[in-house]
Amino acid sequence: MEKIAVFPGSFDPITRGHENVINRASLLFDKLIIAIGENAEKREMFEITKRIEWIKKTFQDNKKIEVVVYSGLTVDYCKTRNIQYILRGIRTSADFEFERSIGQINKMIYPEIETIFLLSLPQYTALNSSIVRDIIRHKGNPDNFIPERLKGLVRL
Ligand code: ADP
Repeated sequence: MEKIAVFPGSFDPITRGHENVINRASLLFDKLIIAIGENAEKREMFEITKRIEWIKKTFQDNKKIEVVVYSGLTVDYCKTRNIQYILRGIRTSADFEFERSIGQINKMIYPEIETIFLLSLPQYTALNSSIVRDIIRHKGNPDNFIPERLKGLVRL
């Protein structure tokens, strides 16, 4: 059976931290679905079409990567598409505690779905989309924090 994983997140915008986790995980699975969660409560900085375009451009040479938008519970999305793995990145102990409860509850809902964690590289531990948005909002240059291919593109 094909090993398929979903990497859920907001990707508002995609960062080098996400890119690194995705590249490493794509070696472990036959297919990796980057799933942008539609969240009615979060006000995103970038339109969903932009976020999709930037992820696609970043991984244009990687045939294993697919980009989708979904709403509802990540485990329900996995179930409807017969996906066996959820991928998450861990930067800090705070990430771990947050992910632990979600992962354990997800396992109670659907025991057949496994959550897989990859540790961030040390140089990306401090990086998150919210810092990148702050840089952009204040007219700074975010290019060192977003994928190389997106240089000059991720702006308001
Ligand atoms: P969310 O909206 O769930 O916080 P994000 O888009 O911020 O989603 O992140 C999606 C996934 O990417 C999460 O598993 C998160 O831990 C991981 N991630 C985000 N930034 C980094 C980073 N710098 N290094 C490794 N993983 C990261």
